[in-house]
Amino acid sequence: MTTAAIAILERLVAFDTISAKSNLDLVGWVADYLDGHGVESALTRNPEGTKANLFATIGPGDRGGVILSGHTDVVPVEGQAWHSDPFRLETRDDRLYGRGTADMKGFIALVLALVPQALERTLEIPLHLAFSYDEEVGCLGVPALIGSLPEGAARPRLAIIGEPTGMQVANAHKGIQFLRTRVTGHEAHSSTPERGVNAIAAAAEIIAEIGRVAAEYRAAARPDSDFDPPYTSFNIGTIAGGAAVNIIARDCTFDWEFRAIPGEDVSALRQRIEQFVTADLLPRLRAGHPSAKVETETAALVPPLVPDPASPAEALARRLTGATTATTIAFASEAGLFQAAGIPAVICGPGSIDVAHQPDEFITRAQLAAGADFLDRLLAWARRGGE
Ligand SMILES: [Zn+2]
Repeated sequence: MTTAAIAILERLVAFDTISAKSNLDLVGWVADYLDGHGVESALTRNPEGTKANLFATIGPGDRGGVILSGHTDVVPVEGQAWHSDPFRLETRDDRLYGRGTADMKGFIALVLALVPQALERTLEIPLHLAFSYDEEVGCLGVPALIGSLPEGAARPRLAIIGEPTGMQVANAHKGIQFLRTRVTGHEAHSSTPERGVNAIAAAAEIIAEIGRVAAEYRAAARPDSDFDPPYTSFNIGTIAGGAAVNIIARDCTFDWEFRAIPGEDVSALRQRIEQFVTADLLPRLRAGHPSAKVETETAALVPPLVPDPASPAEALARRLTGATTATTIAFASEAGLFQAAGIPAVICGPGSIDVAHQPDEFITRAQLAAGADFLDRLLAWARRGGE
């Protein structure tokens, strides 16, 4: 099976599916592949029609099965020193190099390679293939796929997200919010500061407040939480503003994020910043000019994966891997969105997150083989009706 998977992986890597680009060529190829095996695909597209999620079911359609979830998009390669073409699978020793090999086209290739075998005999429990777009930019694609899932008896019973965990079972991750704050001040000549409102200076005050809040959360770390770091963390990622050194800046925009430990009151956290803006900063800005404003929008929101001791997804992944414990992961995934939709989810997939998003990303043959073994056991379990 790994030989077939590697051939498929070679095809998948060759599609440049950086999140900013269309994934339709890849999705079309997968749909054709499935069609060649008599399996129908359902696509849910983005509003522009340039990207799509793919969902397909193998086995009986009248009952809920196991979702095998992977994202088709990859992160950019610009500015990275690759030793080979990132969009051509290159084998050196035990390693297969290429963008997305670990994160997470390797898993998708294994799932697709399983299809012919899965069709050989009847499945008591169906397997659902769920391949999304725009995961890397804040899990923007998969909500449409989740929204199209059937209710009732045919609703999938659990989801396995094949993000690279080295085949460890992960039952928790942080939740993420990506935010964009726009400060509008008032332009004036720099020689007359009292006639203007400096948007950059105002943005700096908000950023300083975010820094104070971040320090509080760091001080209230929960070492028992298994997370690294064991607290809700913040980052200011980009900032842009102003037109020239001798003009009081009218506009300033910055992008920031926080990654919250499951169970954190995220709205309280947002309110802290909002309160500083409305009660402290804005009155001062408006005294300078009445049109001054501060707007914050949520660019993406990924709920946390909350550990659930009764999760059938975790129980199945542990059974299939033989793992006696579950771990937490530092990165976010689509698992929290499935869980929030009432579908228990667990993360378990081949490859290492340490090489993901890096130049010379790779997956080892051994990890592909371990992933294939896992899926073989899942298939046997599905044939037996979950016994
Ligand atoms: Zn990923």
